[in-house]
Amino acid sequence: MRIPDVVVIGAAEWDVELVDALPSKEGPECDDFGLTIFSTESIKVARSANGRPVSENCMADTFLHEIIHGVSNTYGLGLTENQVSGLAGGLLALFRSNDLDFSDRGDGMACKGSGKGKKKGK
Ligand SMILES: [Zn+2]
Repeated sequence: MRIPDVVVIGAAEWDVELVDALPSKEGPECDDFGLTIFSTESIKVARSANGRPVSENCMADTFLHEIIHGVSNTYGLGLTENQVSGLAGGLLALFRSNDLDFSDRGDGMACKGSGKGKKKGK
């Protein structure tokens, strides 16, 4: 996926930056490869960790993870780290498995899928 330079969360535009690495984040989980900075409304996503490139799926998971932190903070949800991680992984899998696109591109469909996830025989 293309990670944009800016993402709007609530009424604020958050800067998104792809960085080579985040030195303080060296764990094996996808959510170790990103950072949400609430005071500056910015998100950083690492392209590599421990000298190895981060996979596209992991970067997408990280980006969504950091967005969910921003949504949680903006809307006062108080989500825990585990809740944010679960939502990011779960929603990314849901969107990708069902080819969901929630954007409104002027065709009157606020969300649509390819039907890839439809039950067989229905
Ligand atoms: Zn997190």
